[in-house]
Order: sequence, then structure tokens, then C-alpha cells
Amino acid sequence: KFNKDFGQHILKNPGIAEAIVEKANLKPTDTVLEVGPGTGNLTVKILEKARNVIAVEMDPRMAAETTKRVQGTPQQKRLEMILGDVIKTTLPKFDVCISNTPYQISSPLTFKLLSMPNPPRTCVLMFQREFAMRLTARPGDSLYCRLSVNAQFWAKISHVLKVGRANFRPPPQVDSSVVRIEPKIGKERPNIAFEEWDGMLRICFNRRNKTLRASFLGNKEVLSLIEKNYRLFCAQNDILVDDSIAEEGDDDADDMEVDENVAPSAGDEDEWGGIMDVDGAADDTPSFFQELKAAGSQVPKTKSKKSKTRVALLVKEKVRKVLEDVTELADCRSGKCDENDFLRLLAAFNAENIHFS
Ligand code: SAM
Repeated sequence: KFNKDFGQHILKNPGIAEAIVEKANLKPTDTVLEVGPGTGNLTVKILEKARNVIAVEMDPRMAAETTKRVQGTPQQKRLEMILGDVIKTTLPKFDVCISNTPYQISSPLTFKLLSMPNPPRTCVLMFQREFAMRLTARPGDSLYCRLSVNAQFWAKISHVLKVGRANFRPPPQVDSSVVRIEPKIGKERPNIAFEEWDGMLRICFNRRNKTLRASFLGNKEVLSLIEKNYRLFCAQNDILVDDSIAEEGDDDADDMEVDENVAPSAGDEDEWGGIMDVDGAADDTPSFFQELKAAGSQVPKTKSKKSKTRVALLVKEKVRKVLEDVTELADCRSGKCDENDFLRLLAAFNAENIHFS
């Protein structure tokens, strides 16, 4: 009866449904976004506390079930049902997000919520335990990944409830946890574009246990895309680039090749970052990384040293300078770097007109 592909694990313990709603500290004026209402166990409890609920459900049978549950009651008018994939849906404005999250969309949903220009006040979300622990992992922890850095950079995260697998029908294979994500707003919100920050982190965490030198200078595709962005920046800001071919011998920076990585694949990041779905389309953070993946097949793997343009060498030298001289982070591994290291790194790249979105 339940569709495994949709991550359908219905919460059968009403006490937990109540606890989740309580942890959201709802106000009677709140509009709540509920992701995946299923049979409506959380929905009816939210409707008791909030002004209205916008529910996004992918499975029409489930959507019908929740709608039927409030039919003919005063709550009916306060429930709006949107049929579709929440990741692909343009969301209306809402104050709070509550979800017993289908595990397949844990990562793209979190990124979608964190990257909203006007984020909700609070999100109370049930995740698989390991995913919840990634959100709160600190530098040096084995679960520390791009998701951890982003979550803690853009929001205050707290673990609020452990939920054993026996509370669901059918029971999932692992236990769950409820976390509260309170996006930073106003003066607390970092004054940095989400895509820029995340674009750089995608490169840093492509190989979490390699040095930053290897991630940036040892990867031709990364360098080639940084060059492309640099050219774009120069074109937009009337800066001339020297497109002439560098002479033989000028290309001494080339012996930096540490690692013949091809562009990262979703699998890489899966392994290192626990990012279940890194497709731009899915987690709504497009551009740089998508291009990086696509570039794997397009960028010639062995370019002759002589054919390098001066601007390519200039970009490579800028990256070297940022890593080795300005930040002195070249020998560090992302898995051990903290938010301040990444902030310093981005500032130093930006000072060299290098951008990641
Ligand atoms: N909220 C219910 C509960 O707690 O009992 C059901 C939760 S169940 C874990 C996840 C629900 O999300 C299912 O009803 C499933 O059909 C729905 N779903 C799965 N993927 C979705 C998506 N991409 N967008 C919207 N809903 C989705």
C-alpha cells in the first residue's frame, strides 16, 4: 500500500506528532508549509495551532487522504493542498516548515530552505538519524561535510527529539531524529550570496580528505571553470584579459598537478558529504557545480603546455597565491576547516576577482 519510492513511513505514534508540532512554537497567525502530509497525521495537529497549512504532496492518493480528513470540518478552508514535488515547486510565503521528511529529499529540501532569500522563522524536520547528525557535525567529526558547514552558517540548528523506527508504519531501517532549523535573519544573516558560498564549498568538499591545494590546483576542471568565471567577471567589469598564448617555459606553474581528478560526480559527494542528491536541479543550487560535472567530458584532459593562454596561467597563480600566501590554507583539509577558514578563503578569492557563482 505504501510507496517506497516516495519514502512513505507514516508516523503512527500521536504523541510524537504532537511533540513535533509543539517544538515548532506555532503562533495562531502562522502559515505553515508541510512537506509530504501523507495521511494527514501531522496536518490535523498543525491546523489546531496555526492559521493555515500549505501542504505539498507528491502522491495523489495521499493528498486525497489528507484532504478527505478535513472535509466538512471548519479546518477545510484553512488547508491548501499542492500536488507535486516540493523540490520543483515554487513555494509561496510561509512562516514555519514542518515535515516528516521523505528521506530521499532530505538534502535538497534542507538546501532549498536554507537558500531562500526570505527564509521561514523555524523549520521542524524529521530526518534519518545520520542525516540529522551531519547537520550538527563539527570540524574534525567523521560526519562533517558541506551540509554541516552550510546548515550552521545559515541557521541555528538544534537536535530536539530522537524517534525510534518502531514509531512508523512501515518501520524504516534506521532510527530518526527531529531537528529544529532556525534560519539566521536580519543582521545575523551572513551578507554573502548563497550560491557564491556554496559554490566554493562544493569544490572544497569534493574530496573532503584531500588538501585544498589538491582540490583547487590539482583539478584541471576546477581551474578551467574558475578561469571561465574570472573571464566573465572581467568582461562585466571592463577588465582586459590577456588572451595571448603563453610562451614555452612560461608555464612553470603547471607542475602543480597533484591529482588527475576528473570532475566530481554525485557519487563522490555522496560518499564524503552525505549529500544524497547533488544535482543542481534537485537541490536548487545550480550553475557552478553542474558545469563542473558537465565539464568532465568536455575539457581536454591533456593540454599542451604551450597552448595555455596567459590568462589561464594568471588564474592559476591567483589561486596558488590565495591558498599558499594569503590564507595559508593550502595544506589543510576541508574536513578540518571551520567556518572562519572558509570565510577567509572566500574573501581572499573575491579580492582576486575570483567568484564561484
Ligand atoms: N507526514 C506523514 C506522516 O508523518 O505520517 C507522512 C510522512 S512520509 C515519511 C513522507 C511523505 O512525503 C509521503 O506521503 C510521500 O508521498 C511524500 N513525498 C515524497 N517525496 C515527496 C516530494 N518530493 N514532494 C512532496 N512530497 C513528497
